[in-house]
Amino acid sequence: MRRVVILGASGSIGQQALSILSARPEAYKLIGVSVHRQVEKLLPWLDRLRPEWVAITDSQTLARYCQEGFPYPLIDTQQLYEKLAHETVDVILNGIIGAAGFWASWYALQNPSARLALANKESLVFGGEWLASYRERIIPVDSEHSALFQCLQGERIEDVEKLILTASGGPFRGKTRAELARVTPEAALAHPVWRMGARITVDSATLMNKALELIEAYWLFGLAAESIEVWVHPQCIVHSVVLFRDGSMKAQLSAPDMRLPILYALSYPYRESATEGRWLPFSNGSMLSFEPVDEETFPTLRYAREALRLGGAAPALLNATDEVAVEAFLRGEIGFLDIFHWLEWCLTQPEMAEKPESPQALAVIEEAFRKKIRRHFLRATDAG
Ligand code: MG
Repeated sequence: MRRVVILGASGSIGQQALSILSARPEAYKLIGVSVHRQVEKLLPWLDRLRPEWVAITDSQTLARYCQEGFPYPLIDTQQLYEKLAHETVDVILNGIIGAAGFWASWYALQNPSARLALANKESLVFGGEWLASYRERIIPVDSEHSALFQCLQGERIEDVEKLILTASGGPFRGKTRAELARVTPEAALAHPVWRMGARITVDSATLMNKALELIEAYWLFGLAAESIEVWVHPQCIVHSVVLFRDGSMKAQLSAPDMRLPILYALSYPYRESATEGRWLPFSNGSMLSFEPVDEETFPTLRYAREALRLGGAAPALLNATDEVAVEAFLRGEIGFLDIFHWLEWCLTQPEMAEKPESPQALAVIEEAFRKKIRRHFLRATDAG
């Protein structure tokens, strides 16, 4: 019986993980679970999965549930970090959304008994420098990185020439810059294949999601940024490809269903029977195609390579800028192309050269930078 903690249980990954656990009560025991604010999304699972504790990381929401009474022991963020670092568990799944997820990964990796099933890509984008030394205990859940991780089982990283991340191309593949200028939040939220949260869906439309995944792959596998490529593959069946130095390629194929990489990370190094998301290669629409990324229209991959070249705080600040820009876009305050303008602006700022010595120091720089972004762009918008 594997002892599991699920973080970010109200999000898309968290909810799918809860469904996997509830379908396999003989294999997994839910020890603890965290949500930020949306406690109601957790309630339907509790009686079936009976966790030992529930963390609510938004203090006002926690206070309200403490007052009303809750059927399971409640803990706050600090107590959660204690549990992550010390509880005897086998797998901690981090499905938290955004840079806030870094700290959960950080504490989980202090725990020698636990493996970190990592779905929060910002953990590595924000603090890859500090997490990379624990990489042998990280099992990636992002579908592309899970694919690379699976292809690399039994291989030596020295034998790898290139890692190739596949990208759906998002809802605006083939569009010109001029067409992108008129894009609405509703159009950006209509992803052709994957169903995900709002931010990651907009990030897929700008290809910023793939840019963050490039940074994630850099820290997970320890290859140079130039050795990580991106191919557009609209069917989302080949989840990534490894090219070895003898010219041989290995790819991982499956239906575009996040339950599969989640299950692999929970069951690793073994595999479990699953009926979820089977791909039938001889059904209609089984053609697989690949094409290069249009980096003129979608320059975000270039931003990621530049941030990795700068090192230090740069990847974290690029991510912070994207988080703030996507929020502003979803609120209708800025246009789609403004997201690219903000990211380009970010790369020219003096803070990009900062080399913080600890994640705590980076967090201070990052928080100040978020304020600077809002001051620079949103106040200017108000005034204009
Ligand atoms: Mg992905």
